[in-house]
Amino acid sequence: MSVRVVARIRPLLEKELDKDVIVSADRAQDGKPLTIVKIPSPKNEAEEFSFAFNSVYDRATTQEELFTSEGMSTRWASTPVAPHMKALFQGYDVTIFAYGVTGTGKTHTMRGGLKLAERGVIPRLLSNVFRRGKKIAKDSNGETTVDVALSYYEIYNDKVYDLLEPPEKRTPSGLPLREKDGKTIVVGLSERSCEDLKDFERLYIEANNNRVTAATKLNAHSSRSHAILRVKVTQTTGDRVRESTASAIDLAGSEDNRRTDNGKERLVESAAINKSLFVLSQCIDAISRGDKRIPYRESKMTRILSLGQNNGITIMILNLAPIRSYHLDTLSSLNVSSRAKRI
Ligand code: ADP
Ligand code: MG
Repeated sequence: MSVRVVARIRPLLEKELDKDVIVSADRAQDGKPLTIVKIPSPKNEAEEFSFAFNSVYDRATTQEELFTSEGMSTRWASTPVAPHMKALFQGYDVTIFAYGVTGTGKTHTMRGGLKLAERGVIPRLLSNVFRRGKKIAKDSNGETTVDVALSYYEIYNDKVYDLLEPPEKRTPSGLPLREKDGKTIVVGLSERSCEDLKDFERLYIEANNNRVTAATKLNAHSSRSHAILRVKVTQTTGDRVRESTASAIDLAGSEDNRRTDNGKERLVESAAINKSLFVLSQCIDAISRGDKRIPYRESKMTRILSLGQNNGITIMILNLAPIRSYHLDTLSSLNVSSRAKRI
């Protein structure tokens, strides 16, 4: 089991062009890659804090560069860093989180825009999976078949809701969990098989609309829930079956809601979000230290993902906004994102 914690600093938005930039990317030594995030102390501007990551992506990083550098290359042959997508087809599980305050680019990183160049990690991952699947089938002269099946759900106020079902079908208590063969399964969660990228996009758009509609009905915002996409890859050769899973998670915003006047509803949400993000960071910490005991049972999300229980790779992308209005939130997310050691 291995874990990577990386940071991505988003560019300034149109309306922010006159704002004060306070977050920067740096390297440990000349000629080395970017691994350090720098930010001034809120109390004393002359003092600067540094946080170390496995990698730091600065404001100019494109969607393609992020995907490729994180070893999830869209190219079949050469993967410059760890070949995670190849590992997926070798039977390893891959889990990718986007963590950060609302407005820092989590959804942009995971989902991205509609234009080809703006596509995020999720459509690129699916495109890669379909391409590899077709190649494996072809190279084996049809002896190996590759099936791709999707599940997509959200965790809101610690309850699990299926995003592939319309919001009218939701029960307020959400879907129950059950233990089976040492794994946690979400009872009643739908799974749809998916043939190609077009198929996926149709499903994904519909599911994201379900997510927004459901949130609006509750007078909430979709940034208050965790959205978890699960891509199950099954390779079958005769009676040999190899199954692995890629999970991509757009986490709820990590902002501190005690500082904003948000009312009771939002405080209940915040408590659930804070707890699950806390447990998540504890798990990432434990995995990166190589601990035997990973507290994945302490929250629903980490429990469903069996985080750290599989022989796979976990990538945590910490999204950051570079400007001063996010100062305290940026500092607190730098502090909790494990492995991002203060140096
Ligand atoms: P979050 O999901 O964390 O709340 P979003 O992904 O919605 O944040 O990003 C907030 C805004 O910033 C959006 O308008 C988004 O398009 C823009 N944005 C975020 N990251 C980038 C980026 N790397 N390049 C260009 N625009 C970005
Ligand atoms: Mg978002």
